[in-house]
Amino acid sequence: MKAVILPAHKQGYRIEEVPDPKPGKDEAIIKVNKAALCYRDLLQIKGFYPRSKYPLILGHEVVGTVEEVGEDVKDFKKGDSVKVEKKFTVRIGLYTLKN
Ligand SMILES: [Zn+2]
Repeated sequence: MKAVILPAHKQGYRIEEVPDPKPGKDEAIIKVNKAALCYRDLLQIKGFYPRSKYPLILGHEVVGTVEEVGEDVKDFKKGDSVKVEKKFTVRIGLYTLKN
């Protein structure tokens, strides 16, 4: 998949191909249909979150379709339409979603 990557603190961003993610036991993989640019993404690029772990991938506000779920996921199944909200834990850029 393509991803917007921040390589290090205040080092700008680049678009790269990264390996497709695999879900953990309590995670789901979402095929992203649309992603929004959030003010937090802009602050991240500007370096407002210096304790972030780099490299990181931007894009935590998305809508899409569940592609794959981990064995412990009960509330989602392949083909479900979903949107990611802040209350979920998101592995940013991998577009996985915890219960
Ligand atoms: Zn946001």
